[in-house]
Amino acid sequence: MIRHPAFACDPWQVCEKTLSLDVLAQTESIFALSNGHIGLRGNLDEGEPHALPGTYLNSVYELRPLPYAEAGYGYPESGQTVVNVTNGKLIRLLVDDEPFDVRYGTLHEHERVLDMRAGTLTRRVRWCSPAGGHVRITSTRLVSFTHRAVAAIKYEVEPVDRPLRVVVQSELVANETVPRIDADPRAGALIPTPLVLEENIPAAEGAAVMVHRTRVSGLRVAAAMRHEVDGPQGTRIEADGEGDVSRVTVATRLLAGQRLRLIKYIGYGWSAVRSRPALHDQVVAALAAAKLTGWDGLCAEQREFLDEFWAGADVELEDDEEVQQAVRFGLFHLLQAGARVEQRPIPGKGLTGSGYDGHAFWDTEGFVLPVLTYTYPRAAADALAWRLSILPKARARAAQLGLEGAAFPWRTINGEECSGYWPAGTAAFHVNADIADAVIRYVDATEDVGFERDVGLPLLVATARLWCSLGFFGPDGRFRIDGVTGPDEYSAIRDNNVFTNLMARRNLLAAAAAAERYPADAERLGVAPEEIAGWRKAAGAMYIPYDERLGVHPQHEGFTQHEVWDFASTRPEQYPLMLHFPYFELYRKQVVKQADLVLAMHLCSDCFTPEQKARNFAYYEALTVRDSSLSACTQAVLAAEVGFLELAYAYLGEAALMDLRDLQNNTRDGVHMASLAGAWLALVAGFGGMRADNGVIRFAPRLPALLRRLAFRLRYRGRLLAVEVTPERTVYRLLDGPPLTMVHYDEEITLSDEATRPTPEVRPPDIEIRQPPGREPLPRVPFRGCAARPGRSPAAGGRPGPAAGPGDRKGPEAGGRAGDPETA
Ligand code: BGC
Repeated sequence: MIRHPAFACDPWQVCEKTLSLDVLAQTESIFALSNGHIGLRGNLDEGEPHALPGTYLNSVYELRPLPYAEAGYGYPESGQTVVNVTNGKLIRLLVDDEPFDVRYGTLHEHERVLDMRAGTLTRRVRWCSPAGGHVRITSTRLVSFTHRAVAAIKYEVEPVDRPLRVVVQSELVANETVPRIDADPRAGALIPTPLVLEENIPAAEGAAVMVHRTRVSGLRVAAAMRHEVDGPQGTRIEADGEGDVSRVTVATRLLAGQRLRLIKYIGYGWSAVRSRPALHDQVVAALAAAKLTGWDGLCAEQREFLDEFWAGADVELEDDEEVQQAVRFGLFHLLQAGARVEQRPIPGKGLTGSGYDGHAFWDTEGFVLPVLTYTYPRAAADALAWRLSILPKARARAAQLGLEGAAFPWRTINGEECSGYWPAGTAAFHVNADIADAVIRYVDATEDVGFERDVGLPLLVATARLWCSLGFFGPDGRFRIDGVTGPDEYSAIRDNNVFTNLMARRNLLAAAAAAERYPADAERLGVAPEEIAGWRKAAGAMYIPYDERLGVHPQHEGFTQHEVWDFASTRPEQYPLMLHFPYFELYRKQVVKQADLVLAMHLCSDCFTPEQKARNFAYYEALTVRDSSLSACTQAVLAAEVGFLELAYAYLGEAALMDLRDLQNNTRDGVHMASLAGAWLALVAGFGGMRADNGVIRFAPRLPALLRRLAFRLRYRGRLLAVEVTPERTVYRLLDGPPLTMVHYDEEITLSDEATRPTPEVRPPDIEIRQPPGREPLPRVPFRGCAARPGRSPAAGGRPGPAAGPGDRKGPEAGGRAGDPETA
């Protein structure tokens, strides 16, 4: 049986009280530290045992051949895989003659704490070697938000009850052996010894530096370390290095209560063009700056950075401590993934693991940026600037496919398409509209004119051109986009996917408006008035299929006529379906992997009437199996909008706890950024009812009966806004910036200080909701500490449901999503 991690509930920390090697892989992802440039998995300081050693630099990848049994035109020839670069977090310890290794001796105490306000991972250990050498070890690790190229560790050892000889070896190690976890296609590929040594200069007075080069992709990577050592008199320090190892050894004798302290600064840099000496100097300089700031300074800057972030992004949830912790955990990881990307991608797993080969997908624009835009907008601008930087490759890909404009890759690190499975990759053209949507949202939320002109306009124009060449006017005059794959990957190569068509329409209209706002820049991009008119014409004629008979939107043309998947005969262990059934079978049936039409109802909210939303939601609930972690949050948002608040709460729990409870059994490969973003979306867009466009931010707050208070902060157009929802009233506060016109339900409010409005009661529509048998979300009741309350589910007029706190939630491997379907 797969074990799931369990953490103590604390609003600002994720704390593992005892070490469980069964879940080491998951905790390595959960305790990963990153700033978007450097990523360190939460590996133990001494390096072993490990599940997956991981040190990543954003965009350092290796190329590998993509073999095809039957190749075809336009198939990508090579794939990119994130590289485990030089490990600088390694600190080994010898106590008398024995290596500190948690698998030997007695581990009296072992605690790890991820502190989301301090931005640190702290480990406290009390260990007795097999020969009775009893030590306390404390290490604190950070990846600096303020020094982009720097990570640092404070490592302390102290004998507990008798004098001990202690040796600490602080290392840089490249080409670590990386174990293959399993054959799950969602895991990353294994590239043995990806790095070729160019230089290994052991520490003399200053820093030890190692420079490597990736074999095929030709990227140069430099890593350096430098130390401050504080030990009793007689402490000796030596440095040596050979091959892929560089080592600083500190040997000392400690009396009981005496302490050896080592501060290790680690610097990283990489480049495709810079020379070995230039990169060498770059990392040495980064360490000089880190040392100047000092350990205390780095910690202080880290906290200040996070204080400012939380002041504009925090979410508070009364009653449910578990989700409270999880939503902050999610925001923390999103910030870690995006803070210092600086024109690099935000991968689906951030820099927390090698899952999905370290690729960035539409997850970024579809889920992560909608959160960062309102909480840390700079990261959203940076991630979109990366899209602009790969525009030439996207243009080349479009040309290769015989299309105009740009075809952005479905999955990539360096901008080139890496998807070898074209029905889900190449054909998922909606990624282009998702990028456009993220541009539109960012510009709306920030009024960043420079970005709109220099980054937004070229992206909107190139993607609008794609839609015009991909689609065509059918005999009835409607603009059709045939043969594409929408967000739901259990349907492929279909005509007129509603999500794609609606998003393409938005893309076309936004490109037209932006081109007219910046005529000179548009002209430089070759945009003529006739082209703008063509975009508007296509948008105006966009075909949005509707099934009059059922009164619902088919996900794509003809979808509602397909045979419905035989859910009753599908056994719990056959999920996720893509691992147990051929795609051929999935594509022919009505079965939905992840929200698609339902996502369209979130992102293109005003294209559907409330009645259509309710009917569509009910229809797709019965077909959606949530085999992707990108689904629960969207179902939460729409369940809340339609009025099924308890169901929304259940989906919120699932999105929020995706990694802390390892609900998809693959947190070991890295955390799921989209789902973590989804916890915020479920709360703010779901229960807060937040939607924003065209300079107007709207709220339609509502709470499930079991939650008594939700508060969140966000940034919009230079304002800092705080929203506090209770069942009785909603209070809007303008904490910073000029007065703002906003909307509470249908009422326009000019907010200059504070406004209080009643929170209306929301009733579910009279429509039956059910999920495929066995795929119901587990009903959720607030989880407080160890005492969970049973609750009622008024949406269903229900009876008390079980608590969903640690210990009583079954994992999916136990068929555990089949909880009490009372919300259905
Ligand atoms: C989902 C995609 C997603 C990818 C990476 C797949 O399982 O179906 O929508 O982009 O995972 O998260």
